[in-house]
Amino acid sequence: MLQSLLKTEIIRLLPKWEKITDLHPTSWQTKYMTFRWGTCNTKIGKIWFNVQLAKRTPECLEYVILHELIHLIEKSHNERFVSFMDKYMPMWR
Ligand SMILES: [Zn+2]
Repeated sequence: MLQSLLKTEIIRLLPKWEKITDLHPTSWQTKYMTFRWGTCNTKIGKIWFNVQLAKRTPECLEYVILHELIHLIEKSHNERFVSFMDKYMPMWR
């Protein structure tokens, strides 16, 4: 099942990126989304991952994990956000 497959991958990869960034979501879940790979509620520090990420490569999942972790400290995709992406994943572009 896609959902359990994705959860296994997140459990494997999220701690790595939490360690690198020192950013920690209060909780996370997976759900079906149509238009985005992930979403972050900055107020409560919770991240949702799109179940359909299970069909993508681990690299793609890692990118989304990092992207949503950075949203914990920067809500919009501004220069500050991009500088964090550059810092933690220089090849992301
Ligand atoms: Zn975003």
